[in-house]
Amino acid sequence: MKFNRIEDLDIDGKVVLTRVDLNVPMDNGVVTDTTRIDKIVPTVKAIQEAGGKPVLLAHFDRPKGQRVESMSLQQIVPALESALGQKVTYVEEAVGGPAKRAVAAMGTDDIILLENTRFYEGEEQNDPTFAASLAALGSAYVNDAFSAAHRAHASTEGIARLLPAAAGKLMEAELDALNAALGDPQRPVVAVVGGAKVSTKLELLGNLVEKVDHLVIGGGMANTFLLAKGAEIGKSLAERDMTDTALEILDKAEKAGCQIHLPVDLVVAREFKANADFEILPDEECAPDVMILDAGPATVDAITGVFENCRTLIWNGPLGAFEIPPFDAGTNAAAQAAARLTREGRLISVAGGGDTVAALNKAGVADDFTFISTAGGAFLEWMEGKELPGVAALVDARR
Ligand code: AMP
Repeated sequence: MKFNRIEDLDIDGKVVLTRVDLNVPMDNGVVTDTTRIDKIVPTVKAIQEAGGKPVLLAHFDRPKGQRVESMSLQQIVPALESALGQKVTYVEEAVGGPAKRAVAAMGTDDIILLENTRFYEGEEQNDPTFAASLAALGSAYVNDAFSAAHRAHASTEGIARLLPAAAGKLMEAELDALNAALGDPQRPVVAVVGGAKVSTKLELLGNLVEKVDHLVIGGGMANTFLLAKGAEIGKSLAERDMTDTALEILDKAEKAGCQIHLPVDLVVAREFKANADFEILPDEECAPDVMILDAGPATVDAITGVFENCRTLIWNGPLGAFEIPPFDAGTNAAAQAAARLTREGRLISVAGGGDTVAALNKAGVADDFTFISTAGGAFLEWMEGKELPGVAALVDARR
């Protein structure tokens, strides 16, 4: 996958429209987690180092094409200034007179933050006129919002087709990691897919069996597969109407030469609560009155063995009910094995999607994985094999 990077653009002295993700959690007007803001700093600095003047474009929440004061980006300014270590000029519009005047008055080291792009109907409609009004403000476009790249909006897709366009540092890191994991990976490749339900990850499983050599299925969704294979799963979380689908996935995997790994032992309990009494049983010995809440140690050993024989790992979803101890043990141990192999230079490990980030943080391995994507929906769509419009526009811009 070829796309421009900031260094490929000639931006010296030019205004660079820079799409970032500032959709941060807030409580009473205060940003409660600055991770997303911190992650755009290298991109803004790189643009400034190349002589460019960053004008930040972002959405916040879902105002649905209307001005909603509680969703104004003005409230992000203090956190943004503190992350960037400099003043940021907030403009109360994203297009039109105020935006044009502010951009025209920009000095060399200035940074502008334009108002929430989703205050305008044209944003989510990817309206060409709105995209053109955004593009008219600058001479180049940098997209650093991988997390919004699965949406074909004016500020993520339309504008990239109107100006010289490049990926920002975070987008670049995401794309390089994703390409290394599924685009053009070192083989063998193992995917770990866990989490609650098969139904939410059907497309993802269908895509992965075609692309990876080993697929480890864990968490609640493994129960559906065990049930489909005729096993007793007691009162476990499972989608009892999805067993045919599970069998179809197993069949598809076999045809594609993808080896599926299901749990070989189970951590079971009678209560779904922290520190409940539990037992470890072989998978064929589950009783009718228990719940399967985690993968057992033999399963973790088997998974570790697969990791040891692979060069690339891609992970989405926990192996058990990781929020409540001791049912986090399987996820923690497998994640730590992946982290060790990554540290030893034997494995490229990429993970992402919703709960996965929380589970890997809890396992204490977040810094050891090659890359952990915080992108959520965009990461999952990419694992499903879908084209992300924001990424496609960057790839086309390079051509
Ligand atoms: P997902 O959002 O699909 O990745 O699912 C993550 C959720 O699945 C977490 O809240 C886990 O607690 C839950 N989960 C994983 N395994 C099990 C299990 N065996 N029984 C119940 N919940 C589970």
